[in-house]
Amino acid sequence: MATINENFSKLASGYLFPEIARRTALWQKQHPEASVLRLGIGNTTEALSPAVCKALHDKVDLLSHRETYSGYGDEQGDTYLREQLVSYYHQYGVDLDPTEFFVSDGAKSDAANIQEIFSKDNVVAIQDPAYPVYVDSNVVGGRTGRFNPDTLRYEGFVYLASNEENGFVPDPPKQKVDLIYLCSPNNPTGAVATTQQLKAFVDYALENKAVILFDSAYSEYITEEGYPHSIYEIENAKKCAIEINSFSKFSGFTGVRLGWTIVPKELECEDASSGVLNKMWNRRQCTFFNGASNIAQAGGYAALSGEGLRESRALVAYYMENARLIREGLTRAGLTVYGGINSPYIWAKTPNDMPSWDFFDLLLDSCHVVVTPGSGFGPSGEHYIRVSSYGHRENVEKAMQSIEENLHV
Ligand code: PLP
Repeated sequence: MATINENFSKLASGYLFPEIARRTALWQKQHPEASVLRLGIGNTTEALSPAVCKALHDKVDLLSHRETYSGYGDEQGDTYLREQLVSYYHQYGVDLDPTEFFVSDGAKSDAANIQEIFSKDNVVAIQDPAYPVYVDSNVVGGRTGRFNPDTLRYEGFVYLASNEENGFVPDPPKQKVDLIYLCSPNNPTGAVATTQQLKAFVDYALENKAVILFDSAYSEYITEEGYPHSIYEIENAKKCAIEINSFSKFSGFTGVRLGWTIVPKELECEDASSGVLNKMWNRRQCTFFNGASNIAQAGGYAALSGEGLRESRALVAYYMENARLIREGLTRAGLTVYGGINSPYIWAKTPNDMPSWDFFDLLLDSCHVVVTPGSGFGPSGEHYIRVSSYGHRENVEKAMQSIEENLHV
């Protein structure tokens, strides 16, 4: 008799983005003449760079001849790409070994799957608000109790509130936890942790034999000095942190799909000496994953090399100019805004303490602009919206003009 994984039934209501899509589609049906301006989802919109396109085409050409065709590659990723990733980290003064890199089909699956190598009994701390996959993967993995609709929290998680008082970067927890999910630059708040702030987490993790799961998918969006791009810039972080990153937001690979996870050999926890967690993740990937697409890996290599690197950074600069326009537009419209300087996300306070979903509906109805309600990312996201700078410049400009003209707060 088959039975289901009961933990799925604990997942709180629908996933945020389908609900946004549902409301937007309904509104569009009622207003067929209106064109909706979307600044909701963090999906890239600009074309792949010429160097990446060339590499993708070249790889397809190789695959189209028997002599140069290749099938399955290494589950951990092609050696040439892992070596290139090692060089990429040298710019931050971080020295890693290729065998510490695991190339994947993107950061989301790694962020969801990484909890599998940890015991079900681990206590999980998450930033609140947070990118939803950290929460949902641990709910499904059985590390929580029920979702409490009154507090909007799962029993069992330790929520690290990110708010105006702490500049949206929380302190390490007061109590003992085992796994800590950190994302910097942060989705959704756009906040970025300083060296001191990350060091406090590393010190905490070393003291408590906890493991930090550090998502640096937006590291290339850091424009100011003094913010680490990798957690391994902090001394001894290799002993207590796993880092997850992606080509999605840096090089526009949201559809191409490519990312990586670093599990240092030095990483330890309560019952695993150095090397064990690296071996476990290796085993996990070899068992459940057959390697990232070889075409995508050829593109990834180009994105990190010479011209490709410059072009990827130009793509980031394009989105960051959008971020500037959004920050300025929303400020002129009378909103209080955060983020958008070292991150593509602008975190704006709703006017007059309006609930996030009400402000979502108001912006859609009066300005025809779609944003993301902050409450969808966790209880501390209530009374905020996230505005994404992914979009064509002309749409961003139209959206800001519409908000400035039509939003009366
Ligand atoms: N991590 C964060 C913080 C993200 O915001 C996203 C995508 O929005 C991802 C990971 C997913 O990245 P990928 O496209 O590589 O799966």
